[in-house]
Amino acid sequence: MKEKIWLSPPHLSGLELGYIQSALDSNWVAPEGPNIHLFEQKLESYLGDNSYCVALQSGTSAIHLALIMLGVKRGDEVLCQSFTFSASANPIVYQGAIPVFIDSEPDSWNMCPDLLEEAINDRISKGKTIKAIIVVHLYGMPAKMDEISAIALKYNIPVIEDAAEALGSTYKGRMCGTLGDLGILSFNGNKIITTSGGGALICKTKKEKEYSTFLSTQARDSAPHFQHSEIGYNYRMSNISAGIGCGQMEVLKDHITARRQLNQLYREFFSTLEGIQIFSEPDSNYYSNHWLTAIVIDEQKLGFSREDVRLHLEKENIESRPLWKPMHLQPVFSDAPYYVGQVAENLFIKGLCLPSGSNLSSDDFLRIKESFLSLF
Ligand SMILES: *Cc1c(COP(=O)(O)O)cnc(C)c1O
Repeated sequence: MKEKIWLSPPHLSGLELGYIQSALDSNWVAPEGPNIHLFEQKLESYLGDNSYCVALQSGTSAIHLALIMLGVKRGDEVLCQSFTFSASANPIVYQGAIPVFIDSEPDSWNMCPDLLEEAINDRISKGKTIKAIIVVHLYGMPAKMDEISAIALKYNIPVIEDAAEALGSTYKGRMCGTLGDLGILSFNGNKIITTSGGGALICKTKKEKEYSTFLSTQARDSAPHFQHSEIGYNYRMSNISAGIGCGQMEVLKDHITARRQLNQLYREFFSTLEGIQIFSEPDSNYYSNHWLTAIVIDEQKLGFSREDVRLHLEKENIESRPLWKPMHLQPVFSDAPYYVGQVAENLFIKGLCLPSGSNLSSDDFLRIKESFLSLF
């Protein structure tokens, strides 16, 4: 069996070791220590736009804290993009709130502004309280933020940007994650950079950063004994993980360059194959990190279905994956209200993510190409 080609494996640079070593040498082996603050600083200077970052254990915990910061409580509703990973929506349920799912539009594959406004009006007419909007930049592609922000402003609903997949992507020259009221990032093993597992909350003010840090470290009041006036969480990133993150920040730009170059190679290859359409930036306002390269398969034209292609690649030990199954089709969310057309459902049926790692070799790429050609 040939060696497995993974969809999006971790890509370490070697620079991580120095930071981990210093954590061990200084005995900061805890969810506190210099690497955490340094990692936050590195993120803040990379993101710019007066962003204040809080390093956490996961992107999921960052979304949970964002909802808590916005006062989301039992019975409230949160509008969430349906076409996403379940982690975008699960924390809504942790809060006892109700997710309401919104379909995507075909250009960015992200939240459809028209359906968003329709949903807001309908929920309001039903007497519901909408506390937040969660918009996702899927596969690194920025959502239609101008339209979404204008609607959010009109109805005075805060926006949480799930930029878990979009570190380094920009919309009209501005970093994804800094465009909403709060943003989140993920550093899971498969993301554009990793801390082995981790995430960050991106705030607009120092005060929000301090408050969310406080919540993430068990909400301890300042007192010599342990005193608590609020429910806290154990969500802080460890100093070891943050060390991996510090090393990864030094190569983030290289990772983005590599993923974009790989996307370009796929683009050239598929331009010769009728029936395969590669997911592309709608116009120059959108700059994607191309975390994952995604294709849409026209079974009529290609002569093979998405599943035919996936299984064919799998036989050659090449990992690929169907696009996200929309949340409104998930058994666990079968009771949730939704406002959808056919966009996400169609993408789920026809779409496939291809190996996209920043460490994918040219030999790997050749194998992938040959595997596609051997379909015919
Ligand atoms: C990975 C991911 C998350 C969750 O991040 P974790 O760090 O794995 O908890 C949330 N939303 C999206 C869109 C993701 O891809």
